[in-house]
Amino acid sequence: MRVAEISLPAIRHNVARVRELTGGAVIVVVKAGGYGHGAAIVAAAALEAGATIIGTADLEEALALRESGIDGPILCWLHGVRADFADAVGADIELGISDLDQLNKLADAAAQLGKRATLHLKVDTGLSRNGASPGAWDELFARAAELEAAGTVRVRGIFSHLANAGDENDRLQAARFDEAIAGLRAAGVEPELQHLAASAATLRSPHLHYNAVRVGVAAYGLSPFADKTSAQLGLIPAMTLRSEIVALRGVPAGTGVSYGFNHVCETPTTLALVPIGYADGMPRALNGAGAWVTVAGEPRPIVGRIGMDQFIIDVGPLAGRLKLGDPVVLFGDPERGYPPVEIWSGLMRTINYEIIASIGPRVLRVPVDGDAA
Ligand SMILES: *Cc1c(COP(=O)(O)O)cnc(C)c1O
Repeated sequence: MRVAEISLPAIRHNVARVRELTGGAVIVVVKAGGYGHGAAIVAAAALEAGATIIGTADLEEALALRESGIDGPILCWLHGVRADFADAVGADIELGISDLDQLNKLADAAAQLGKRATLHLKVDTGLSRNGASPGAWDELFARAAELEAAGTVRVRGIFSHLANAGDENDRLQAARFDEAIAGLRAAGVEPELQHLAASAATLRSPHLHYNAVRVGVAAYGLSPFADKTSAQLGLIPAMTLRSEIVALRGVPAGTGVSYGFNHVCETPTTLALVPIGYADGMPRALNGAGAWVTVAGEPRPIVGRIGMDQFIIDVGPLAGRLKLGDPVVLFGDPERGYPPVEIWSGLMRTINYEIIASIGPRVLRVPVDGDAA
């Protein structure tokens, strides 16, 4: 009764769109359960569409993809201090390496297994998160060159991440990234892939494409920009969050709805119960904010407080056309008449990323190939 339909044609289209825009390698990021879409579903569709590498944050996510049968290249870059790099090398996971400790730990794991490890050096160019600071580059690059010469590791790439703090800052970060690439080359390493841009720079800043990009939100068909829609960017939203009507109740004027009665029906109407709630990622604070869903192709308002498991819509004049089991679409592709996810993120003063990444584990992810209807 709680379904996130994931359109495989949409994912493939979005990945193809990014390939067409950049012409280089494309790393499709499926961290956080594929931004709530299901990591393995998205990874498989992305590889079919020509993604070069699948990216995750955590090693655990990368290993889970292997267990799900994803056998293409996988890169992960955010490591706990106790991460076991032998697992990574054993499963042919490429690692983002941010410091000398990680590099040596990876080299030890590779030596122990008698298997060459593949890595991408991560440099901080201004975001102030992970990645080696400029002062640590020389030592890190020298050690990487030494390990590569010894055959212990392959330095496949070098990368950094943008702060999206405006064009001028992007250019400053790119200049630092250029210095890092030059430094690595001077140390005797020629990285196959150089990647800086995530979705925003991929869609807006061709001068930041280098020869590879890492896209998350664009692959899911959503816009990283407040002032541009998916359609304006040539992207198709891949997730349709849907449920069904499980109860219909005719009520007189004056009827209070849900906890606290903060909604009271002004006229006689019909209420429909929909079994998705805040435990499933529907923000409780949407209550009373004006959010709507699509029922029988029509927009209808969410009324009363959203519960942990369920919410209510006022179906008003549609009542006679509805029956139990009829589908309710919470968000999806506005080109198909569904509310865009940005209605929720706008009302919640957050970004579309947070809404999709918060869709809960009770929602079944169903890959759909072809027309979802
Ligand atoms: C999440 C992430 C991305 C993808 O970002 P989008 O804005 O979703 O494209 C790229 N690179 C890194 C390092 C990330 O953590």
